[in-house]
Amino acid sequence: MSELNPKTKFIFITGGVVSSLGKGLASASLASILQCRGFKVRLRKLDPYLNVDPGTMSPFQHGEVFVTDDGTEADLDLGHYERFSGVAAKRSDSTTTGKIYQRVIDKERHGDYLGSTIQVIPHVTNEIKNFIVSDLEDEDFVLCEIGGTVGDIEGQPYLEAIRQLAYDLGRERTMFLHLTLLPYIPTAGELKTKPTQHSVKKLQEYGIQPDMLLCRSQMPIPENERKKIALFCNIKESNVIQALDVSNIYQVPLAYSKEGMDKAVCDYFNLHCPDADLSRWEKIVETVKAPEGEVKIAVVGKYVKLLEAYKSLSEALNHGGIANKYKVRIKWIDAEDLETGDADSILSDVSGILVPGGFGSRGTAGKIAAVKYAREHKIPFLGICFGMQMAVIETMRNVLGVQNANTTELDEKCEAVVGLMTEWDKDGAKQIRHKDGDLGGTMRLGAYEAVLKPGSKVAEVYGSEHISERHRHRYEVNIKYKDQLEKGGMIISGTSPDGKLPEIVERPDHPWFIGVQFHPELKSKPFAPHPLFVEFVKASIKQNRLV
Ligand code: GLN
Repeated sequence: MSELNPKTKFIFITGGVVSSLGKGLASASLASILQCRGFKVRLRKLDPYLNVDPGTMSPFQHGEVFVTDDGTEADLDLGHYERFSGVAAKRSDSTTTGKIYQRVIDKERHGDYLGSTIQVIPHVTNEIKNFIVSDLEDEDFVLCEIGGTVGDIEGQPYLEAIRQLAYDLGRERTMFLHLTLLPYIPTAGELKTKPTQHSVKKLQEYGIQPDMLLCRSQMPIPENERKKIALFCNIKESNVIQALDVSNIYQVPLAYSKEGMDKAVCDYFNLHCPDADLSRWEKIVETVKAPEGEVKIAVVGKYVKLLEAYKSLSEALNHGGIANKYKVRIKWIDAEDLETGDADSILSDVSGILVPGGFGSRGTAGKIAAVKYAREHKIPFLGICFGMQMAVIETMRNVLGVQNANTTELDEKCEAVVGLMTEWDKDGAKQIRHKDGDLGGTMRLGAYEAVLKPGSKVAEVYGSEHISERHRHRYEVNIKYKDQLEKGGMIISGTSPDGKLPEIVERPDHPWFIGVQFHPELKSKPFAPHPLFVEFVKASIKQNRLV
């Protein structure tokens, strides 16, 4: 730990009472208001589940998989962190029990433990501690969120590790923040503090005394209840912060600061600094509260029953709306509904159509129907990853008459306009994949550069001909169909720098029709909305089919 900058302080964020309290958003918001006081922050997530990463989990189980520039498949909370702090997350900001154990077992096999019996304490906990303190620079604060809820069996080594770290580093450099819920019981007409008390007791059993409580609540916490929580939980009253429900997420940093959270953190660490300059958030909230109009955009996907699966996407659409001073109303459409229902009745009221990323065959015919509708009715269209692949297949089938055009992901014997990538270039080194290889972590992942065609719509959108975007895919449009696609009115307007991998397609005969092989939604931020979303929303506003 000697290489740690002595000024760096650690805030450990745990959750209690119930899951889904928005710990990720709370962590991101705290980081942001500390930034607004001029501090440098970093955010990290420790997930106690046994998967090595969420890349192999169903979106229905885990929500979206967030991808970093350096190609890590990580928890969607890293998306909140990036969007709120603007700090690009790295491989070293996300871990899981699977990753931690993999390292411990690799070391054991390598003989690094010199004959010791390998145990949770100290070997696993040391690995967790190493993760927390590694790859840091001169951050003022490192916020470490522990996934799950206090009391989970999987979470215990993490609580033990942060308890030890607080001892190693000293309490003057570490803070424990616990997020809880005060449920409102209508029959009693009261907010209840008992679950919070129990949750804190549970933490104390692990040797952790929280320094601050963030209490989610539907209504203001009465003074006497706050006093009670402080007394029973052994916490300064000013460190019992109420977190009331707000109508949009951009209000959270403002609400926390108003409740004195950043001040309480500074007081705790004895830091003297100016008040937070929250103007960036105030401006966003103002725009969101008083939009100049509304635009309805359809998202035609497979996982629409769990919107967490499209977290970055819906955020990026909101950012595009904010940039245009419009509210984007997303019409979530289950792609399968377009297979049984009539496209006209489902899509006639939307001004833009987006087909997002996806995997597997279910709903593909519906996605292709959505592309066809957008193409024929000249509705602004954005296809992302699988959505772009579907757009290419749609042109092949419906414009060029190649009925068996498909992706080998769905049909091995098709006219393989989209096929498995077996070789590509990454930073000058060849990446090789095989059909029967491992699924985990083996896609084309992370930031890759692309070169855009001068004069194309997409070059105009970016205002540049060289871009870098994040990828997460195994299949790719085959460049050999370039001329054929052009005959069908679709041009390849962006490729990998070596010209081998199509990255972007567009239709010059259409007001706004772009498909991208990468995930622009992962880089969009409220303060730096992604140009593709800004322009897609703008084109949709122009379309104005609001009924
Ligand atoms: N399933 C497709 C592929 O692997 C698309 C992936 C995605 O949309 N993220 O290429």
